[in-house]
Amino acid sequence: SSNIIAIVGRPNVGKSTLFNRLIGQRKAIMDNVSGVTRDRSYGHGDWTGKYYTVIDTGGYVHGSDDIFEEEINKQVNLAIQEADVILFMVDVEAGVTALDEEFANVLRRTDKPIYVVANKADTNARGYQMGEFYALGIGEEIFPISSQNGSGTGELLDEVVKHF
Ligand code: GDP
Ligand code: MG
Repeated sequence: SSNIIAIVGRPNVGKSTLFNRLIGQRKAIMDNVSGVTRDRSYGHGDWTGKYYTVIDTGGYVHGSDDIFEEEINKQVNLAIQEADVILFMVDVEAGVTALDEEFANVLRRTDKPIYVVANKADTNARGYQMGEFYALGIGEEIFPISSQNGSGTGELLDEVVKHF
């Protein structure tokens, strides 16, 4: 196995913030498929002696919350094809949204391991709000994390690298 982690989810949940944390000071490789929007980035990292490649998906216009069904399918199918483990990121500040449900419906097509990452759980109180994401009916487990301050990311990686 090539130990590939893909991060998927709707715009602004914090995918790129987690990606940057997972690759540390290393450089990301951009793959500009459309030539207009940044389609995906690849980076490398390691955790407890295990090396991985992480893919930050999200080929939509930066700063926009708009995303279309075609984009969701493209992003998720890329993750399903390339990844060994998929991180489906949601946002505890926003709760479950219609777009999260659309992502979940596409992700249901794969039997690859999926973890729901409930981001922006900057405080314990915020972390407790992760419970509502069980309603999405997807993923082996839900991990509350803060991509910004790093809390919960170690527990998540401990679980993810078990597949490597
Ligand atoms: P992406 O569109 O999913 O790649 O999301 P970004 O990584 O670009 O983050 C979107 C916004 O959420 C930015 O303003 C980030 O600073 C913010 N953000 C990301 N992670 C966290 C977090 O753990 N906590 C909080 N409070 N904000 C975050
Ligand atoms: Mg991004």
